[in-house]
Order: sequence, then structure tokens, then C-alpha cells
Amino acid sequence: MNSGASTPGGSPANHPDVLVLGGGLGATALVAALRGGGFTGSVTVVCGEDRMPYDRPPLSKELFDRDEPAGLAEQFSLSPGDAAWLTGRRATAITPAAGGFRVSATDAVGDVHSLDAPVVVVATGVRPVVPVEWSGVRTLSTWEDARALRAALAPGTTLAIVGAGWVGLELASAAAAAGVRVTVVDALDRPLGTVTPPGVGARIAGWLAAAGVAFVPGGATAAGAATVTLADGRVLDAAVVVAALGARPATAWLPAGWLTGTGHVLVDGVGAVRGAAGAFAIGDCTAVDGRADQHWNAAVAAAERCAAAILGHVPPPPRPSVVFSTMYGHSVDMVGRADPHADVIWREDTAGGWTALLTRDGALVAGMAVDRPRDVAALRRILARDRPRIDPGLAANAVRPLTVAPA
Ligand SMILES: Cc1cc2nc3c(=O)[nH]c(=O)nc-3n(C[C@H](O)[C@H](O)[C@H](O)COP(=O)(O)OP(=O)(O)OC[C@H]3O[C@@H](n4cnc5c(N)ncnc54)[C@H](O)[C@@H]3O)c2cc1C
Repeated sequence: MNSGASTPGGSPANHPDVLVLGGGLGATALVAALRGGGFTGSVTVVCGEDRMPYDRPPLSKELFDRDEPAGLAEQFSLSPGDAAWLTGRRATAITPAAGGFRVSATDAVGDVHSLDAPVVVVATGVRPVVPVEWSGVRTLSTWEDARALRAALAPGTTLAIVGAGWVGLELASAAAAAGVRVTVVDALDRPLGTVTPPGVGARIAGWLAAAGVAFVPGGATAAGAATVTLADGRVLDAAVVVAALGARPATAWLPAGWLTGTGHVLVDGVGAVRGAAGAFAIGDCTAVDGRADQHWNAAVAAAERCAAAILGHVPPPPRPSVVFSTMYGHSVDMVGRADPHADVIWREDTAGGWTALLTRDGALVAGMAVDRPRDVAALRRILARDRPRIDPGLAANAVRPLTVAPA
């Protein structure tokens, strides 16, 4: 694979047919989908990080198991020459230019490089949210973050994680398994409380308790390198403090007219930016028709639809959102639009697996499957329909396949 870091100004790499900004999952999946669809033009990828694209899910799940990041080029079977990868450069401005767009990209020593292309795809992802006054608090978003955390955590070390979302819970799981003494603080009274109803959160809280992870509800009002101030005024001391509060789009450098109020690039179903012909955006930095979906499968699906649009092919149909996770010895898949206010139908098997079927007004909106891969496949199929109905009595029987209710 061509690192491209030494590509000189004025080289063909600076005048590609397709210019991709952001060297992560969406960018890699886009290059793979373009080449898989027969694209023979030139592609350049401006990669903000100083390394080739890598996969982020293992950063939390395999924190203590990896000496090298999980490269994405291999995972997507890319060949050298599929794209020029300009690592260590950040896009800082984009303007309309004759026949397309001009992008300014800044390298590590501050030199600015200009790139021109008729088609530009923004795939710059997100940055973790940390209140500005929380000085010294760590995050887990990049390989460098993971490496620094691994070095700081040893058996017996105390770790406080603020935020019981997916990343916070996975980090807690990996750290506890490695003998780290972990406390998770969250504003809500249960883990995953922003996406799952109370009964589901209570089960996940049970996993934390069984793993020796302390859960503190009520939230944090302040945090520093070695302290977290809880809502009731108590101060929690920890050798390492991590904020896992979610993430915001890395889009501040884009034209304001492309962005929603939350900073997401507003795009249609194939990633096209309204009012900017030739501009596309995919992945975590986007809101598709106003909805953000910051997950692995969504980024790959968006890349495939975008590539089809660039190639003039019919895009694949939208698929239901699927978030996968592994934590506390369980395989967890959330299919569909998670909803903390949904009603729950439980499907439980005798081996300890369960699926929480989330319904609203009688229609299935999502399902969280724990150690139930067959339910994941069924949920993907069922949730591809519009407002599917299920029979609560039949659906609760985990021995029967999950199906829609007979009409
Ligand atoms: C620790 C962790 C665990 C995760 N686990 C899961 C999981 O289990 N399941 C799941 O579904 N999802 C998971 N995710 C989310 C998943 O990794 C993302 O949804 C996915 O990576 C999104 O792809 P993307 O291309 O939009 O962004 P990214 O893969 O984040 O890539 C964006 C890239 O753009 C670069 N960039 C930013 N600004 C610029 C700029 N101005 N110029 C050039 N480059 C720039 C960034 O440095 C980054 O390398 C996890 C994320 C993290 C951080």
C-alpha cells in the first residue's frame, strides 16, 4: 500500500478524480466500493492521522490484546494503487473551484497543500466530547489514545470512566478483565440509559456488578486527571480518568451551509450534500435526511451507497442500523433504532441468551440480542419492513424463529 506521505505538490495525487477527506472506516469502505464497482479513475485519500486507516472497535474491546492497530486496507482487500493515501494531513478548507472543489490540507509541519477534484467525499468522523475545563481527562478514540491508556493501566490501578455508553462500557469490561479496579459514572440510573429501556439497563448493570465494576449514577460535575467530582459533591479519586461522553462531528472546517445545528453534514440517502453538486459525505460526521447514525455498519453502508451514486449505479437499499459490541463475555447486537421509552418483549433461552424486542404502539422498532445470533439475522430481515408487527406471545418464545405477525 502506498503511504503517499511524500507525495509532492503538483503530483497527480493532488488532482484526483475522487478526493476523500478522512482516512478511517468510511474512506476505506468507499475506496473498496468504488473499485469493486469498476471505477478506474484516480482516488486520493487525505488521512488526518499519521498512519494508514485502522479499525476502531478493537480499541476498546481488545485494549490489552493488540500491539498493532487492526488495519482496514487488509480487511477490505484493497490493493496498492487503489488510492493514494496522504497520511498526516488534515483538510482545513474547501471552496468551489473550476470543475469542482479546491481543498487545503495542512501537514504536520504546517505546510498547506492544495488539492483539486471534481468529486469530494467528506468522511472525517467524530471527535470525543470533553468539557473544556476537564483538563487531563483522557478519551478513547484513536490508536494513540488506546496505547497511552494501556500503558497507564495495570492490575490494581484505579480507573474512573465518565459515561456508560457503548465505548465506556466496553472499556470498563476490558479493564476489569485485566484486573483494573473500575468505576463507571453516568448521569442516568443505568448503563446504556440513553438508548435502552430501564429493564435492559438493569440487566447490563448486573454484568457490571458481576465483573466487579462499580456503577455510580447521578453524573459528574467536574473531572481532572485523577479525580471525578460527583453530582452529590463527593470526589472520586482514580489513577486514570476517561471521559466517554459521546462524540461530535469533525466538521468545523466545512462551509456552515453544509451543516446541521449539531455540526453534522446534512446529506441525502446516497451521501450527496444539498446544493453542492459533486460533494458527498459519509459516516459518523453525517446526518442522513437529518438523522445521525454513528456506527460501523452505517458507515460501510453509506460508503456503498455513495460509491454507487458516484458510479451512476443504482444504490443498494437502506439497511436497518446494526450496532455490534462485545462486553462482559457477551456478544451484543442492537438492530434498529434504539429507544429508551419503548415497551419490551423478552425472549430468553435456557442457555442465558436473551433478546429484548423494543416496540412502540405495537410496532417493532428495535431489538437487542445478547448471545442470540439467529435473532440478529431475523431482526435485520424484519426491521427492513415498514413498522413491522410481531405477535407478543409468539415472539416471547425463544425456541420459535422470530417472525412478523400473520396478517
Ligand atoms: C473505541 C471505539 C469503539 C467502537 N466500537 C464500535 C462497535 O463495537 N460497533 C460499532 O458499530 N461502532 C463502533 N465504533 C464506531 C465506529 O468505529 C465508527 O462508527 C466508524 O469508525 C465511523 O467511520 P468514519 O469513517 O465515519 O470515521 P472514522 O473511522 O473515525 O474515521 C475518520 C477519520 O478522519 C480523520 N479526520 C478527522 N478530521 C479530518 C480532517 N480535517 N482531514 C483529514 N482527516 C480527518 C480522523 O482522524 C479519522 O482518522 C467504535 C468507535 C470507537 C472510538
